[in-house]
Amino acid sequence: MKVLVVGGGGREHALVWKIAQSPLVEKVYCAPGNPGIGAIAENVPLAVDDLPGLLAFAKGKEIGLTVVGPELPLSLGIVDLFEEHGLLVFGARRNAAIIEASKAFSKDLMKKYGVPTAAYDVFTEVEPAVAFIDKVGVPIVIKADGLAAGKGVIIAQSRDEAVATVNDMLSGNAFGSAGSRVVIEEFLVGEEASFLAFTDGKTIIPLASAQDHKAVFDGDQGPNTGGMGAYSPAPVVTQTIHDFAMAEVMRRTVDGMAAEGRPYRGVLYAGLMINGSDVKVLEFNARFGDPECQPLLMRMKSDIVPVLLGVARGDLSGVAIEWHDKAAVCVVMAAGGYPGDYRKGDEIRGLDEAAAIDDLFVFHAGTAAGDGKIVTAGGRVLGVTGLGDTVKDAIDRAYQGVGKICWEGVHFRKDIGAKALKR
Ligand code: AMP
Repeated sequence: MKVLVVGGGGREHALVWKIAQSPLVEKVYCAPGNPGIGAIAENVPLAVDDLPGLLAFAKGKEIGLTVVGPELPLSLGIVDLFEEHGLLVFGARRNAAIIEASKAFSKDLMKKYGVPTAAYDVFTEVEPAVAFIDKVGVPIVIKADGLAAGKGVIIAQSRDEAVATVNDMLSGNAFGSAGSRVVIEEFLVGEEASFLAFTDGKTIIPLASAQDHKAVFDGDQGPNTGGMGAYSPAPVVTQTIHDFAMAEVMRRTVDGMAAEGRPYRGVLYAGLMINGSDVKVLEFNARFGDPECQPLLMRMKSDIVPVLLGVARGDLSGVAIEWHDKAAVCVVMAAGGYPGDYRKGDEIRGLDEAAAIDDLFVFHAGTAAGDGKIVTAGGRVLGVTGLGDTVKDAIDRAYQGVGKICWEGVHFRKDIGAKALKR
């Protein structure tokens, strides 16, 4: 079968890498892809939001399965469109992707179906929002309702900051229409983990546990990014926490979405805050996490294609996933300035030296090809991912790879995986 992957970041490079290993797959296309993906699949110059273009391509090439990476095409309804045309597609339909596209929707869903989450309220007007801030106190968390590329969450440390943030978001200055409604919620303490599961709307198959590193600097300092690294497994997700998350988060959410007339098919990602035995959901995503996808897929022993097909066909019964009994660690190498305005066009050196290391894979995210060189083209440039018998081995392997690669202005965290070692 021919497979089309939609997207062009590190997550999609990992998906293409894994899908291309399947004996069921004859050829993989990726739209728009990137130079790393181009080495193992055929890049197609179509943007992720060009739904008519993607549909015409999939029909023309007789694509047997389309796999959607990012949230934007999901929330634009790519899955609905492909299904209307009789094409098999992996991803959440538009009315289910709202679980990520609207934080107010996902909070209300959690409340209605008893999924544990921080106390909150939803506001469109400044005055009641300020009254709520005064009632709850600081620190307090203010979230733009809509999609804001992971940057729409502000943890306000003072009342002034909280009020200014609410004013900024509700006036449309920050995040445009995505901020015209805000969720304000209680600040939670604890350790975060990413809990992902495949679901056909009934059967739920969890992936291995993982942990992201959102802050730009070591020790979780500095502003949030799209993710500076990830590892799997995450020891904070004990068997007890896993069982709780499956029953109280995943099962309730999948059943709740079905009851709402929004059957959820695809990969459901719950960002969890874990404090001892207390587990609360911070957010849902309607797709694989990036960079969690990279270490997760490196650890996945089973062929992923029967799983993706099972979800797309709406029948995961009889599907099981085996995992390598190894750890994987992904270190994101970012462009100078990221997550603010960042440099572009810097030549990346050392990719071949890193590629020569066993149990290491360099996933491309923001790269471009030019003049026989690979140059930086995005904020997060590479996800250097190592496999090892233990988290410590995987960390060493990943940083061995990072040590071979450089460009002007590169920066990366030096403590990816350190939390796992502390346990
Ligand atoms: P979200 O997109 O909702 O997951 O928020 C992004 C990040 O903000 C999370 O990964 C947390 O680090 C932080 N965050 C979100 N909500 C809360 C909360 N209620 N308490 C503390 N931190 C939070």
